[in-house]
Amino acid sequence: MGCVLAVIMSPAVADRQDDFRACLDELTRRARAEGISRATLGRELAGLEADFSVLERLDYQPEFRSPIWDYLGALVDEQRIADGRAQLLAHADTLAEIERRYGVDPATVVAVWGVESDYGKNFGTRDLLSSLGTLSCFGRRQTYFRGEFIAALGIVDEGSLAADKLKGSWAGAFGHTQFMPSTYRRLAVDFDGDGRRDLVDSVPDALASTANFLRDAGWRSGEPWGFEVRVPPGLDFDGEGRKARRSFAEWARRGVARVDGGELVPATAQAGLVRPADGGGPAFLLLKNFDAIYAYNASMSYGLAIAHLSDRLRGGGDFVTPWPTDDLPLDRAQRRELQRLLLARGHDIGPVDGAIGSRTRAAILVEQRRLGWEDDARAGQKLLRALRKGPATGD
Ligand code: CA
Repeated sequence: MGCVLAVIMSPAVADRQDDFRACLDELTRRARAEGISRATLGRELAGLEADFSVLERLDYQPEFRSPIWDYLGALVDEQRIADGRAQLLAHADTLAEIERRYGVDPATVVAVWGVESDYGKNFGTRDLLSSLGTLSCFGRRQTYFRGEFIAALGIVDEGSLAADKLKGSWAGAFGHTQFMPSTYRRLAVDFDGDGRRDLVDSVPDALASTANFLRDAGWRSGEPWGFEVRVPPGLDFDGEGRKARRSFAEWARRGVARVDGGELVPATAQAGLVRPADGGGPAFLLLKNFDAIYAYNASMSYGLAIAHLSDRLRGGGDFVTPWPTDDLPLDRAQRRELQRLLLARGHDIGPVDGAIGSRTRAAILVEQRRLGWEDDARAGQKLLRALRKGPATGD
Protein backbone atom coordinates (compact mmCIF):
# COMPACT_ATOMS: atom_id res chain seq x y z
CA MET A 1 0.00 0.00 0.00
CA GLY A 2 2.79 2.39 0.93
CA CYS A 3 4.54 1.69 -2.38
CA VAL A 4 1.42 2.37 -4.42
CA LEU A 5 0.89 5.66 -2.64
CA ALA A 6 4.51 6.64 -3.20
CA VAL A 7 4.17 6.01 -6.95
CA ILE A 8 1.00 8.08 -7.11
CA MET A 9 2.39 10.93 -5.03
CA SER A 10 5.87 11.35 -6.38
CA PRO A 11 4.93 13.31 -9.56
CA ALA A 12 2.97 15.77 -7.41
CA VAL A 13 5.93 16.21 -5.09
CA ALA A 14 8.21 16.67 -8.09
CA ASP A 15 5.85 19.36 -9.43
CA ARG A 16 5.95 21.14 -6.10
CA GLN A 17 9.75 21.03 -6.08
CA ASP A 18 9.62 22.63 -9.59
CA ASP A 19 7.29 25.31 -8.22
CA PHE A 20 9.76 25.80 -5.39
CA ARG A 21 12.67 26.31 -7.83
CA ALA A 22 10.68 28.92 -9.76
CA CYS A 23 9.75 30.69 -6.54
CA LEU A 24 13.38 30.63 -5.37
CA ASP A 25 14.44 32.32 -8.61
CA GLU A 26 12.07 35.15 -7.79
CA LEU A 27 13.30 35.32 -4.19
CA THR A 28 16.88 35.39 -5.45
CA ARG A 29 16.12 38.52 -7.49
CA ARG A 30 14.60 40.16 -4.45
CA ALA A 31 17.54 39.19 -2.25
CA ARG A 32 19.94 40.63 -4.82
CA ALA A 33 17.95 43.87 -4.80
CA GLU A 34 18.38 43.95 -1.01
CA GLY A 35 22.14 43.72 -1.34
CA ILE A 36 22.83 40.05 -0.66
CA SER A 37 25.85 38.92 -2.64
CA ARG A 38 25.60 36.76 -5.73
CA ALA A 39 28.19 34.40 -4.21
CA THR A 40 26.09 33.76 -1.08
CA LEU A 41 22.91 33.23 -3.07
CA GLY A 42 24.60 30.86 -5.52
CA ARG A 43 26.19 28.84 -2.75
CA GLU A 44 23.14 28.56 -0.47
CA LEU A 45 20.25 28.28 -2.90
CA ALA A 46 21.59 26.11 -5.75
CA GLY A 47 20.81 22.81 -4.04
CA LEU A 48 18.14 23.99 -1.61
CA GLU A 49 15.15 21.67 -1.35
CA ALA A 50 11.73 22.43 0.05
CA ASP A 51 10.67 20.87 3.36
CA PHE A 52 6.95 20.42 2.88
CA SER A 53 6.48 19.05 6.39
CA VAL A 54 6.65 22.61 7.77
CA LEU A 55 3.36 23.40 6.00
CA GLU A 56 1.61 20.87 8.24
CA ARG A 57 2.92 22.74 11.26
CA LEU A 58 1.74 26.05 9.82
CA ASP A 59 -1.84 24.81 9.79
CA TYR A 60 -1.60 22.55 12.83
CA GLN A 61 -4.58 22.83 15.13
CA PRO A 62 -4.02 20.78 18.28
CA GLU A 63 -6.82 18.34 18.90
CA PHE A 64 -6.44 18.81 22.64
CA ARG A 65 -5.48 22.12 24.17
CA SER A 66 -3.47 21.87 27.35
CA PRO A 67 -4.65 23.88 30.35
CA ILE A 68 -2.23 26.61 31.43
CA TRP A 69 -1.17 24.69 34.56
CA ASP A 70 0.10 21.80 32.40
CA TYR A 71 2.07 24.23 30.24
CA LEU A 72 3.63 25.95 33.24
CA GLY A 73 4.18 22.64 35.06
CA ALA A 74 6.34 21.34 32.22
CA LEU A 75 8.26 24.58 31.62
CA VAL A 76 8.89 25.68 35.20
CA ASP A 77 9.80 22.49 37.02
CA GLU A 78 12.42 21.72 39.68
CA GLN A 79 14.92 20.63 37.04
CA ARG A 80 14.67 23.88 35.06
CA ILE A 81 14.92 25.92 38.27
CA ALA A 82 18.03 24.03 39.41
CA ASP A 83 19.63 24.23 35.96
CA GLY A 84 18.88 27.96 35.79
CA ARG A 85 20.47 28.63 39.16
CA ALA A 86 23.58 26.78 37.97
CA GLN A 87 23.64 28.95 34.82
CA LEU A 88 23.29 32.13 36.93
CA LEU A 89 26.47 31.11 38.75
CA ALA A 90 28.34 29.88 35.67
CA HIS A 91 27.72 33.15 33.78
CA ALA A 92 27.63 35.53 36.74
CA ASP A 93 30.26 37.97 35.39
CA THR A 94 28.75 38.10 31.90
CA LEU A 95 25.25 38.59 33.32
CA ALA A 96 26.41 41.39 35.63
CA GLU A 97 28.01 43.18 32.68
CA ILE A 98 24.86 42.63 30.60
CA GLU A 99 22.78 44.19 33.40
CA ARG A 100 25.13 47.19 33.54
CA ARG A 101 24.89 47.72 29.80
CA TYR A 102 21.22 46.91 29.09
CA GLY A 103 19.52 47.29 32.47
CA VAL A 104 17.96 43.83 32.46
CA ASP A 105 18.59 41.64 35.50
CA PRO A 106 20.28 38.20 35.30
CA ALA A 107 17.27 36.13 36.43
CA THR A 108 15.05 37.52 33.67
CA VAL A 109 17.65 36.92 30.95
CA VAL A 110 18.34 33.37 32.16
CA ALA A 111 14.59 32.63 32.43
CA VAL A 112 14.12 33.53 28.74
CA TRP A 113 17.04 31.24 27.90
CA GLY A 114 15.55 28.40 29.99
CA VAL A 115 12.11 28.61 28.41
CA GLU A 116 13.35 29.17 24.85
CA SER A 117 15.95 26.40 24.54
CA ASP A 118 16.28 24.74 27.97
CA TYR A 119 19.58 26.63 28.37
CA GLY A 120 20.93 25.67 24.99
CA LYS A 121 19.87 22.04 25.03
CA ASN A 122 17.11 22.36 22.44
CA PHE A 123 17.64 24.62 19.44
CA GLY A 124 15.38 22.77 17.01
CA THR A 125 16.79 20.69 14.17
CA ARG A 126 15.27 22.05 11.00
CA ASP A 127 17.39 23.66 8.33
CA LEU A 128 16.31 27.30 8.47
CA LEU A 129 16.81 28.18 4.80
CA SER A 130 14.84 25.11 3.75
CA SER A 131 11.94 25.70 6.12
CA LEU A 132 11.77 29.47 5.62
CA GLY A 133 12.15 29.03 1.84
CA THR A 134 9.24 26.59 1.83
CA LEU A 135 7.06 28.88 3.95
CA SER A 136 7.97 31.76 1.62
CA CYS A 137 6.65 29.89 -1.42
CA PHE A 138 3.65 27.94 -0.08
CA GLY A 139 0.98 28.41 2.55
CA ARG A 140 -0.85 31.35 4.01
CA ARG A 141 1.88 33.60 5.46
CA GLN A 142 4.27 33.93 2.51
CA THR A 143 4.80 37.68 2.79
CA TYR A 144 5.92 37.41 6.40
CA PHE A 145 8.16 34.42 5.80
CA ARG A 146 9.78 35.99 2.72
CA GLY A 147 11.07 38.74 4.95
CA GLU A 148 12.47 36.15 7.38
CA PHE A 149 14.01 34.10 4.54
CA ILE A 150 15.84 37.12 3.15
CA ALA A 151 16.93 38.10 6.66
CA ALA A 152 18.35 34.58 7.16
CA LEU A 153 20.29 34.91 3.90
CA GLY A 154 21.55 38.25 5.16
CA ILE A 155 22.91 36.63 8.34
CA VAL A 156 24.89 34.17 6.24
CA ASP A 157 25.98 36.91 3.86
CA GLU A 158 27.37 39.12 6.63
CA GLY A 159 29.51 36.17 7.77
CA SER A 160 28.14 35.94 11.32
CA LEU A 161 26.88 32.39 10.96
CA ALA A 162 27.37 29.70 8.34
CA ALA A 163 24.17 28.34 6.80
CA ASP A 164 24.72 24.94 8.41
CA LYS A 165 24.57 26.65 11.84
CA LEU A 166 21.09 27.97 11.06
CA LYS A 167 19.01 25.17 12.55
CA GLY A 168 15.86 25.85 14.45
CA SER A 169 12.12 25.56 14.88
CA TRP A 170 9.78 24.91 11.96
CA ALA A 171 8.95 28.64 11.89
CA GLY A 172 12.54 29.82 11.74
CA ALA A 173 13.50 30.72 15.32
CA PHE A 174 17.07 29.69 16.09
CA GLY A 175 19.86 29.69 18.66
CA HIS A 176 20.03 29.84 22.45
CA THR A 177 17.21 32.34 22.79
CA GLN A 178 15.33 31.49 19.58
CA PHE A 179 15.48 34.75 17.66
CA MET A 180 13.74 35.06 14.32
CA PRO A 181 16.17 36.14 11.57
CA SER A 182 14.65 39.64 11.24
CA THR A 183 14.91 40.11 15.02
CA TYR A 184 18.50 38.96 14.83
CA ARG A 185 19.29 41.52 12.15
CA ARG A 186 17.71 44.30 14.18
CA LEU A 187 18.76 43.46 17.72
CA ALA A 188 21.47 40.78 17.99
CA VAL A 189 24.74 42.06 19.49
CA ASP A 190 28.34 40.88 19.54
CA PHE A 191 28.96 40.83 23.28
CA ASP A 192 32.09 38.66 23.44
CA GLY A 193 33.85 40.99 21.02
CA ASP A 194 34.95 38.50 18.37
CA GLY A 195 33.33 40.58 15.63
CA ARG A 196 30.47 38.15 14.98
CA ARG A 197 26.93 38.21 16.35
CA ASP A 198 26.69 34.51 17.14
CA LEU A 199 23.51 33.36 18.89
CA VAL A 200 24.33 29.70 18.28
CA ASP A 201 27.81 29.12 19.70
CA SER A 202 28.26 32.18 21.95
CA VAL A 203 26.25 32.24 25.20
CA PRO A 204 27.37 35.86 25.95
CA ASP A 205 26.15 37.03 22.51
CA ALA A 206 22.83 35.20 22.95
CA LEU A 207 22.15 36.48 26.49
CA ALA A 208 23.15 40.07 25.69
CA SER A 209 20.99 40.00 22.56
CA THR A 210 18.04 38.91 24.69
CA ALA A 211 18.66 41.77 27.12
CA ASN A 212 18.92 44.14 24.16
CA PHE A 213 15.59 42.82 22.84
CA LEU A 214 13.89 43.40 26.20
CA ARG A 215 15.37 46.90 26.51
CA ASP A 216 14.15 47.70 23.01
CA ALA A 217 10.69 46.40 24.00
CA GLY A 218 10.53 48.94 26.84
CA TRP A 219 12.12 47.17 29.81
CA ARG A 220 12.22 49.31 32.93
CA SER A 221 15.30 48.64 34.99
CA GLY A 222 14.55 47.76 38.62
CA GLU A 223 10.81 47.23 38.13
CA PRO A 224 9.21 43.81 38.62
CA TRP A 225 7.19 42.10 35.88
CA GLY A 226 4.30 41.91 38.32
CA PHE A 227 3.07 39.95 41.31
CA GLU A 228 0.65 37.22 42.21
CA VAL A 229 -2.23 38.91 44.03
CA ARG A 230 -5.25 38.06 46.16
CA VAL A 231 -8.53 39.54 45.05
CA PRO A 232 -11.64 40.00 47.16
CA PRO A 233 -14.47 37.49 46.57
CA GLY A 234 -16.80 38.59 43.82
CA LEU A 235 -14.32 40.89 42.09
CA ASP A 236 -15.42 41.19 38.49
CA PHE A 237 -12.67 40.26 36.00
CA ASP A 238 -14.76 41.35 33.00
CA GLY A 239 -13.07 44.22 31.27
CA GLU A 240 -9.82 43.69 33.17
CA GLY A 241 -6.66 42.50 31.48
CA ARG A 242 -3.03 43.13 30.74
CA LYS A 243 -3.77 46.42 28.98
CA ALA A 244 -6.52 47.70 31.30
CA ARG A 245 -4.05 49.44 33.57
CA ARG A 246 -4.94 51.15 36.81
CA SER A 247 -2.80 52.72 39.49
CA PHE A 248 -1.72 50.68 42.48
CA ALA A 249 -3.73 53.05 44.67
CA GLU A 250 -6.82 52.10 42.69
CA TRP A 251 -6.07 48.37 42.96
CA ALA A 252 -5.54 48.72 46.72
CA ARG A 253 -8.86 50.55 46.98
CA ARG A 254 -10.52 47.56 45.27
CA GLY A 255 -9.02 45.21 47.83
CA VAL A 256 -6.27 43.70 45.64
CA ALA A 257 -3.11 42.81 47.59
CA ARG A 258 0.09 40.87 46.99
CA VAL A 259 -0.10 37.27 48.18
CA ASP A 260 3.28 37.65 49.89
CA GLY A 261 2.13 40.70 51.84
CA GLY A 262 4.63 42.94 50.02
CA GLU A 263 3.97 46.51 48.98
CA LEU A 264 2.63 47.37 45.55
CA VAL A 265 5.69 49.18 44.22
CA PRO A 266 6.82 51.33 42.55
CA ALA A 267 3.95 53.55 43.64
CA THR A 268 3.91 55.35 40.29
CA ALA A 269 3.42 52.15 38.24
CA GLN A 270 0.22 51.17 36.50
CA ALA A 271 -0.78 47.55 36.30
CA GLY A 272 -3.39 45.33 34.65
CA LEU A 273 -5.17 42.49 36.44
CA VAL A 274 -5.15 39.03 34.87
CA ARG A 275 -6.47 35.66 36.01
CA PRO A 276 -5.41 33.34 33.22
CA ALA A 277 -7.48 30.23 34.11
CA ASP A 278 -11.24 30.36 33.78
CA GLY A 279 -13.05 29.99 37.04
CA GLY A 280 -10.23 30.59 39.50
CA GLY A 281 -6.57 30.04 40.19
CA PRO A 282 -3.80 32.58 40.64
CA ALA A 283 -4.38 36.21 39.65
CA PHE A 284 -1.63 38.66 38.77
CA LEU A 285 -1.01 42.36 38.52
CA LEU A 286 1.13 42.86 35.41
CA LEU A 287 3.42 45.87 34.95
CA LYS A 288 5.14 47.23 31.85
CA ASN A 289 7.97 44.70 32.05
CA PHE A 290 5.50 41.90 31.44
CA ASP A 291 4.71 43.57 28.11
CA ALA A 292 8.40 43.40 27.18
CA ILE A 293 8.41 39.65 27.90
CA TYR A 294 5.14 39.32 26.00
CA ALA A 295 6.79 40.98 22.99
CA TYR A 296 9.17 38.02 22.81
CA ASN A 297 6.29 35.67 22.03
CA ALA A 298 2.72 36.93 22.23
CA SER A 299 1.21 34.38 24.62
CA MET A 300 0.02 34.77 28.21
CA SER A 301 1.10 31.23 29.14
CA TYR A 302 4.52 31.81 27.66
CA GLY A 303 4.97 35.18 29.35
CA LEU A 304 3.96 33.77 32.72
CA ALA A 305 6.38 30.86 32.31
CA ILE A 306 9.30 33.26 31.87
CA ALA A 307 8.09 35.63 34.58
CA HIS A 308 7.50 32.84 37.10
CA LEU A 309 10.78 31.09 36.26
CA SER A 310 12.62 34.37 36.86
CA ASP A 311 10.98 34.63 40.31
CA ARG A 312 11.92 31.03 41.11
CA LEU A 313 15.53 31.72 40.06
CA ARG A 314 15.53 34.63 42.54
CA GLY A 315 14.49 32.22 45.28
CA GLY A 316 10.74 32.76 45.14
CA GLY A 317 8.23 29.97 45.70
CA ASP A 318 5.41 28.42 43.73
CA PHE A 319 2.12 30.23 43.16
CA VAL A 320 0.17 30.57 46.40
CA THR A 321 -3.34 30.22 44.96
CA PRO A 322 -3.96 26.70 43.62
CA TRP A 323 -5.03 26.17 40.02
CA PRO A 324 -8.71 25.18 39.66
CA THR A 325 -8.05 21.47 39.18
CA ASP A 326 -8.01 18.33 41.30
CA ASP A 327 -5.50 16.71 38.94
CA LEU A 328 -2.21 18.57 39.11
CA PRO A 329 0.24 18.54 36.19
CA LEU A 330 3.33 16.38 35.77
CA ASP A 331 6.81 17.81 35.75
CA ARG A 332 9.23 16.52 33.14
CA ALA A 333 10.64 13.72 35.32
CA GLN A 334 7.09 12.49 35.94
CA ARG A 335 6.27 12.80 32.23
CA ARG A 336 9.21 10.52 31.50
CA GLU A 337 8.00 8.08 34.17
CA LEU A 338 4.55 8.09 32.58
CA GLN A 339 6.10 7.38 29.19
CA ARG A 340 8.10 4.46 30.61
CA LEU A 341 4.90 3.03 32.11
CA LEU A 342 3.13 3.40 28.75
CA LEU A 343 6.02 1.65 26.97
CA ALA A 344 5.88 -1.17 29.53
CA ARG A 345 2.23 -1.63 28.60
CA GLY A 346 3.17 -2.10 24.96
CA HIS A 347 2.28 1.35 23.60
CA ASP A 348 4.45 2.45 20.68
CA ILE A 349 5.14 6.01 21.80
CA GLY A 350 8.68 6.47 20.49
CA PRO A 351 11.53 7.69 22.69
CA VAL A 352 11.05 8.64 26.36
CA ASP A 353 11.63 12.39 26.10
CA GLY A 354 9.27 13.94 28.64
CA ALA A 355 7.34 15.67 25.84
CA ILE A 356 3.69 14.71 25.48
CA GLY A 357 3.36 14.43 21.70
CA SER A 358 0.73 12.85 19.49
CA ARG A 359 1.85 9.24 20.06
CA THR A 360 1.95 9.62 23.84
CA ARG A 361 -1.50 11.22 23.74
CA ALA A 362 -2.86 8.35 21.65
CA ALA A 363 -1.56 5.89 24.25
CA ILE A 364 -3.06 7.97 27.07
CA LEU A 365 -6.46 7.86 25.33
CA VAL A 366 -6.32 4.06 25.22
CA GLU A 367 -5.47 3.89 28.92
CA GLN A 368 -8.16 6.42 29.88
CA ARG A 369 -10.78 4.37 28.02
CA ARG A 370 -9.55 1.17 29.68
CA LEU A 371 -9.97 2.88 33.06
CA GLY A 372 -13.42 4.11 32.10
CA TRP A 373 -12.33 7.74 32.49
CA GLU A 374 -13.13 10.79 30.45
CA ASP A 375 -10.81 10.51 27.43
CA ASP A 376 -9.17 13.91 27.11
CA ALA A 377 -5.62 12.63 26.38
CA ARG A 378 -4.27 14.67 29.27
CA ALA A 379 -1.26 13.52 31.28
CA GLY A 380 -1.87 14.38 34.93
CA GLN A 381 -1.07 13.06 38.42
CA LYS A 382 -4.18 10.86 38.52
CA LEU A 383 -3.19 8.93 35.43
CA LEU A 384 0.39 8.54 36.66
CA ARG A 385 -0.88 7.11 39.96
CA ALA A 386 -3.25 4.73 38.15
CA LEU A 387 -0.52 3.40 35.88
CA ARG A 388 1.92 2.97 38.77
CA LYS A 389 -0.65 0.71 40.44
CA GLY A 390 -1.28 -1.32 37.30
CA PRO A 391 -0.07 -4.86 36.69
CA ALA A 392 3.71 -5.06 36.41
CA THR A 393 4.74 -5.97 32.89
CA GLY A 394 8.09 -6.51 31.19
CA ASP A 395 10.65 -4.97 33.49
CA1 CA B 1 30.51 37.38 19.20
